[in-house]
Amino acid sequence: MFDRPIDLQKARILISNDDGINAPGLRLLEKVARSLCPEVWVVAPEQEQSGASHSLTLRRPLRIRQISKRRFAVDGTPTDCALLAIKFIMKDQRPTLVLSGINAGGNFGEDITYSGTVAAAMEGYLFGIPAIAFSQADKGWAHVDAAAHTARDIVERVLAAMSEHTTPWLLNVNIPNRDDAAALPRVITRLGRRHASEPVIRQTSPRGEAIYWIGPAGSAREAGEGTDFFAVAQGQVSITPLQVDLTEHAALPAWRRNLATAS
Ligand code: MN
Repeated sequence: MFDRPIDLQKARILISNDDGINAPGLRLLEKVARSLCPEVWVVAPEQEQSGASHSLTLRRPLRIRQISKRRFAVDGTPTDCALLAIKFIMKDQRPTLVLSGINAGGNFGEDITYSGTVAAAMEGYLFGIPAIAFSQADKGWAHVDAAAHTARDIVERVLAAMSEHTTPWLLNVNIPNRDDAAALPRVITRLGRRHASEPVIRQTSPRGEAIYWIGPAGSAREAGEGTDFFAVAQGQVSITPLQVDLTEHAALPAWRRNLATAS
């Protein structure tokens, strides 16, 4: 048959994150993946890279530190990690599935444009590989074991549904920090929207220079029914299918009328 299910014994899962190689959420996601598939590869940043977005390191070389069999740390961004994994470390056979996380803190609405967690998964997706980004709604790792159970159930289901010619997809999953997370309803959502971030904080360094901190993310502005914000506020696991095409398709005719010169 042309489109037969994938052979789990031959599947390879790649895991990365943006909280760094030693983050508890990464360790648990690794454990989850190993319980489902024999070949799990971890390629994660040496240092925390939260907010790194989909950035690549291009002005200095990268170093890969092998920690154990199929476990590597890279002194770069989450996107560097996914790219080095797919194009170099695993180049003999690319991953079947890319997982990122479990992140400490939610990735809702516009957060996904700043998120290193989503970026690592997005890099897999851009290489044509199905990918999932997992985040816990709140920072601090409370009930991360329960979040890992949720992640396991989702990964098990997607692996069972995948075929050898699966069209790539990208999912963004936010999990409430609750001990019953694995039993919570799962809903398919769209991205909500946040208010602009909180004010920039100006301070004076010990050497008398002005220094600035980016303020925290703003609260939810569009958090109505059907959004990722709403689902998690209702105690549900939010799953948002993402795409990378940022074209505003609906605006094409108006811009053609107003700005284009070719007929
Ligand atoms: Mn993070």
